[in-house]
Amino acid sequence: MNDALSNEPLRDFVRDRVDSDLKAGKYPKVVTRFPPEPNGYLHLGHAKSICLNFGIALENKGVCNLRFDDTNPVKEDKEYVNSIISDVNWLIEGWADSVLSEKTYFASEYFDQLYGYAVQLIKDDKAYVCDLQPEEWEDYRGVPEEPGKESPCRSRAPEENLVLFERMRAGEFAEGQKTLRAKIDMTSPNLHMRDPVIYRIRHEEHHHAGNKWCIYPMYDFTHCLSDSIEGISHSICTLEFEVHRPLYDWVLDSLPVPHPRPYQHEFSRLNPTYMVMSKRKLLQLVEEGHVSGWDDPRMPTIAGYRRRGFTASSIRNFCQGVGVTKYKGVTDVGLLENSIRDELNKTAARRCAVLDPLEVILDNYPEAQSEVLEAVNNPEEENAGVREVPFSKRLYIERADFMEDPPKKFFRLAPGREVRLRYAYYITCQSVEKDKEGNIVRIHCTYDPETRGGDSPDGRKVKGTIHWVSADHAVDFEVRLYDRLFTRENPESEGDFLDCINPDSLKVITAKAEPSIKEVTVGQRVQFERLGYFTPDVVDTSVGKPVFNRIVGLRDSWAKIAKK
Ligand code: ATP
Ligand code: MG
Repeated sequence: MNDALSNEPLRDFVRDRVDSDLKAGKYPKVVTRFPPEPNGYLHLGHAKSICLNFGIALENKGVCNLRFDDTNPVKEDKEYVNSIISDVNWLIEGWADSVLSEKTYFASEYFDQLYGYAVQLIKDDKAYVCDLQPEEWEDYRGVPEEPGKESPCRSRAPEENLVLFERMRAGEFAEGQKTLRAKIDMTSPNLHMRDPVIYRIRHEEHHHAGNKWCIYPMYDFTHCLSDSIEGISHSICTLEFEVHRPLYDWVLDSLPVPHPRPYQHEFSRLNPTYMVMSKRKLLQLVEEGHVSGWDDPRMPTIAGYRRRGFTASSIRNFCQGVGVTKYKGVTDVGLLENSIRDELNKTAARRCAVLDPLEVILDNYPEAQSEVLEAVNNPEEENAGVREVPFSKRLYIERADFMEDPPKKFFRLAPGREVRLRYAYYITCQSVEKDKEGNIVRIHCTYDPETRGGDSPDGRKVKGTIHWVSADHAVDFEVRLYDRLFTRENPESEGDFLDCINPDSLKVITAKAEPSIKEVTVGQRVQFERLGYFTPDVVDTSVGKPVFNRIVGLRDSWAKIAKK
């Protein structure tokens, strides 16, 4: 159930409440919902909400509804609806798909019912049509410390309100000219209770409801009633809705809704370091071209992580590990990176690639010869088997694995030094070949034929082991090295978040790999030894032209920087 690393059942205050409600017999069944507004792609914060809502349904043999909270036609779009359905399914596949409701719900499909409820409120003198203009609202609403001012329309008779509301619906008024407001309490210290607007006029076509409506219900009126219509037991949302809860309760208590009615519970938002998490800001990154799209592998969107090569389970494990509290803190994004590292360490096949090649000639290796060596696919997985890796006179190693004048603690290749080539032989550097400018063009080494497989029969030890590819067999391929999109831990803390975009968040290079790279297909993930985890890019990889994304490095390179 809990697919996090430990097998302990998850415990938090929301789950405690669900348990006590069930013990008290308050609900026959647990029904939760995940209610995104289709005005952007889902991000990591949504993943946390998905894990919580689907997780609780799963643990209690309940159901979780995917419901679009689509009451604002201006910012919403079908593209977002489709991406959200696809991302939710991807994230819960194989884990909680059994509790996903068969139907996808849309709040906009309740517009008729909601209209009926609004009419009921008007008849009961609990709502009125108001003529105040948007620019007057703030003045009338006032500040929490002092009572607000009542609208001159507050005492309108229900009969007149009914006619006006019908005329609003018929399209007789311009946007902003009239609203429908709940009649609650203009003296409440909670501004949300000061006669909140529950319907407004928008002469806009709706992506799902079409042209039928020109009045649209507000979030606070829609959400609680949608929960009630769907028979939700626990309506779980983030802390900013805590102040809306009295209104949630007021609407349900003021209308003849079926019982048991839903209750709202709030937890704190996920706020990871080195990221922005608001859809408005993510949209800005997309629209201004700072990234290639919502699914750019640097974006903190589910689509971005998926394309980058993260697994759904690594995201779920991260979300579940972070836990559910009311504490407003930040979460180290390194935890997510560790989650995918831990998983891929166990599952990813090892391959060799060289990102920054330096040519090595083995002077004593016969010119026309080549051979095939055996390499284990995954030392963490006994059954993963072995593969064949070609070896020849010309090799590539990483430029960083050679130093002409090395410091004491450098244990890799240097003139006169011996190292192990992983799975192959010991080699010793004999000379360095340079161009006219003094740049190193290639190095010359000798190999010890006795050390085939990587061990010396005379027990001679070497301190360094480096990876390599055979130059004559190597495959050229494109690698996209992604790094964090922002350089500041909290991009929103000071000034404009765009000011701390990391200029090095993407490096595109041509690298060399062992030939078996050609068999790695989209959806597979490999470890390039000593470098990190990589996967073919789903969009840009084509037959004969591999393009690999770096999912994550082997270590957290930022942790070192922070300690310096
Ligand atoms: P944003 O502020 O990023 O635009 P939102 O809250 O407007 O997000 P919705 O589509 O309304 O996004 O959210 C759907 C659900 O996901 C809500 O229940 C919301 O509380 C939850 N959610 C959104 N962001 C986070 C987050 N950072 N952490 C946890 N849950 C979140
Ligand atoms: Mg929202």
